[in-house]
Amino acid sequence: MGGKLRVNCPVCGRSLFKGSKNSELECNCPKCNSYLTVNFVANGISVIVKEENKLTGSGISGEECKALGNG
Ligand SMILES: [Zn+2]
Repeated sequence: MGGKLRVNCPVCGRSLFKGSKNSELECNCPKCNSYLTVNFVANGISVIVKEENKLTGSGISGEECKALGNG
């Protein structure tokens, strides 16, 4: 326990960041700009691509990851 899980972009494969278990993050991939929702679950990581390579009109900018809380 106490280990960090590494997250890779499911679209382009770039290594993004590490996170703790039982948490949820939203993040833009800095390489392909896909908007990702990352869930750290008991047996691994679930990554959902919310917006793939959609830069125009999305209102999403930057590479900042946003913690959504760990319930
Ligand atoms: Zn990517």
